[in-house]
Amino acid sequence: MKILVANLGSTSLKWRLFDCSNNAERLLHKGGFERVTDYPKAIEDCLAALKAAGVITNESELAAVGFKTVIAKDVTGCVRLDERVLSAMAAYNGLAPAHNPPYITGIKLFAQRMPTVPLIGLFETAFYQFAPEAMTRYAVPAAWHAAGIRRWSFHGASHKFVAERSAELLGRHDVAERVRRLYLDGGKSSLNGAAPLRVISCHLGGSSSITGILNGAAIGSSMGMSPQSGLPQNNRVGDLDAEAIPYAVKTLGITIEEAQRQLSKEAGLKGLSGLSNDMREIAEAAAKGDAGAKLALDHFVSSARHWIGAFFLELNGADAIVFTAGIGENQADIRAAICANLEGLGIKLDLAKNAATRATETVISTPDSAVKILVVPTNEELVVARETKRLLEHSAH
Ligand code: AMP
Repeated sequence: MKILVANLGSTSLKWRLFDCSNNAERLLHKGGFERVTDYPKAIEDCLAALKAAGVITNESELAAVGFKTVIAKDVTGCVRLDERVLSAMAAYNGLAPAHNPPYITGIKLFAQRMPTVPLIGLFETAFYQFAPEAMTRYAVPAAWHAAGIRRWSFHGASHKFVAERSAELLGRHDVAERVRRLYLDGGKSSLNGAAPLRVISCHLGGSSSITGILNGAAIGSSMGMSPQSGLPQNNRVGDLDAEAIPYAVKTLGITIEEAQRQLSKEAGLKGLSGLSNDMREIAEAAAKGDAGAKLALDHFVSSARHWIGAFFLELNGADAIVFTAGIGENQADIRAAICANLEGLGIKLDLAKNAATRATETVISTPDSAVKILVVPTNEELVVARETKRLLEHSAH
């Protein structure tokens, strides 16, 4: 079963082709185009590249095309991208202006080009659909909530990957199976009285979020209504007081659009450091004594600890803290700073193992640490392919 996973930007098309036959999961091809001006041609070129590589001879061999869609009104999970779902995405263009419009346009073009191939979306919000309501609400008037102003949370594909893989690595195959079935049975499968599994998943990268996971399902996340929340992002602000924007508009004499632009392009690690939006550069500059870089680093670390602490309490402790994504997988010093001085909570990092670990699945806590600390490289596209396959198989029955 060949599943194409397409990542659509306003001027980019990236893809991975997986063979998901039987129990195998093989990456057959990956590629992409930047600075796309003619999207139909980019889709044509993608299919030509797959044929030239000999991984398909005809697009009818594709069992489906899967998309990591972001958000839609009253729709989440892994679903077929029909007219109803595309309209639901359009209804929330305002919540995901950089993502929903290009996805809607691109999906329509895929549908025109290959009308018989199922197009399936795994929404980034899907992993949070079973979170307790109290964790997903803002304390806003009812009309605001009805308009979509609530914690949606994102990076769902990545945190779901971590939920499944960490359960396997911890020997909790019952929980891993529950994660696999999550969108098929609505999180209803029980663990038959087994001990709960409490995981705190730290997706730290250009965009960062921390998610609390109980028995394979998210209970909440640092990201809120938009990815402009929670931890400081590369050049996007993290958590910010609701009064800050109207105050900045009045005091700085800028428009609301300019305030939004600055908060999404000039803020976050870039704004704090005054230097760069790239954590490698920030860490290097901080090590050389640059005050702005040190401030950005310290703020990032304390924000990560803040959210880990929140879920540690909410979950009544943790069996594992998992690091993933560009920073989480590669930057040992930042992992060490986040895990420093937590022995009182049973969180003990093995400094040597941590320093030696880069982008490989590894346990980096000491043997006597009550909380296991893991590095698990994420694979969001694989999650899209897996869920797409499950939906196809489930709907065939
Ligand atoms: P991501 O968004 O997951 O690609 O992560 C990007 C962030 O990870 C940037 O801030 C990078 O500086 C940081 N990073 C650190 N080491 C690496 C690495 N070896 N490869 C990619 N990103 C890295």
